[in-house]
Amino acid sequence: MHHAQNLIICEHCDSVYQKRKLLRGQVADCTVCGAVLERHQWIGVDGQFALIVASLIVFVIANVSPIVTLKLSGMAEDTTLWGAVIAMWNDGAQIVAVLTALTLFFFPLSQLMIFAWVLWFARDGRRAPGFAEAMTALVRVKPWSMIEVFMLGTLVAVVKAHTYFDVVPGAGIWAFGFLTVLITVFSSHDARHLWDVTGDAKA
Ligand SMILES: [Zn+2]
Repeated sequence: MHHAQNLIICEHCDSVYQKRKLLRGQVADCTVCGAVLERHQWIGVDGQFALIVASLIVFVIANVSPIVTLKLSGMAEDTTLWGAVIAMWNDGAQIVAVLTALTLFFFPLSQLMIFAWVLWFARDGRRAPGFAEAMTALVRVKPWSMIEVFMLGTLVAVVKAHTYFDVVPGAGIWAFGFLTVLITVFSSHDARHLWDVTGDAKA
């Protein structure tokens, strides 16, 4: 850590402050415009990296395991996320199929991969190649990664389908649930601190 540049600038009104050490749960606000300057980081870089690796493993499990098993008159059918996407596509709901694949697979996966890339280097206090682009991409991708919305949708669908079928939640749904928790914990973090913990001299 360099103590020379112990200043923090408000992103909204450009006021400059002396940085202070924050305690658990503390948030520093701009006294001029009220914007959040900084949050206390309660998980270190190593901890965040471990969290991302765990999320990637759970992500794989979530995508290959059946989300639900439908049972109707003695027959049982498993549905994975990809099975559902293909079924929607074949049903003429191509737009929904593409949106589902993007918001539940491609965006969350790129979010996790970019974080893993940046954190891998940040563990040694280094900036990953393409660090600035990666940090910008994370801000852009975040609103499109909608696993929480999917969780709610699936729960509603499971409850509704229960009227007609015997619906058994599969391992995939638990994995997605766990992933929601992991991503929520992770998102409560301010990714901007990665600028501070990595040095700019070494690329
Ligand atoms: Zn301000």
